[in-house]
Amino acid sequence: MSCIFCKIIKGEIPSYKVYEDEYTMVFMDIAKDVDGHMLAIPKKHVINILDCDLETLNHLMATVKKISNYCVDDCEYDGVNILNASGESAGQSVNHFHIHIIPRKDSDNIDGWPEFSGAEQELEEVYEKLKIE
Ligand code: 5GP
Ligand code: ZN
Repeated sequence: MSCIFCKIIKGEIPSYKVYEDEYTMVFMDIAKDVDGHMLAIPKKHVINILDCDLETLNHLMATVKKISNYCVDDCEYDGVNILNASGESAGQSVNHFHIHIIPRKDSDNIDGWPEFSGAEQELEEVYEKLKIE
């Protein structure tokens, strides 16, 4: 398996490990794009939210919450951004499910939300497609 995150889990590629339990791991993202950028991943290789079983997802989200609370309760942050890209269309570049955790401070002035270019379709039109009957 040539998956880079599976190699990180096995220790074949070094990482700055923040947290690990039986099912999940959290480590620093190497992007150096924003302070404190972490990735939370399941140890089980699943590609993204679309193929992830609920048990694995529950473990991953429990870890995301644990680290988020830890950032605010113990590391002097005020909040977190939780980001995920599932699928190439969404910008996923590593095909092992990962949740980005970015710890935030009230004063950090980071724009943690993508700047969208504006909706092209009528809200009602998209709603008709998306709503679950
Ligand atoms: P995506 O674009 O799939 O949402 O995010 C993939 C993330 O993985 C990127 O933020 C990228 O910086 C990070 N990444 C890619 N390769 C490595 C690596 O070898 N080690 C670490 N720690 N992060 C990586
Ligand atoms: Zn993997």
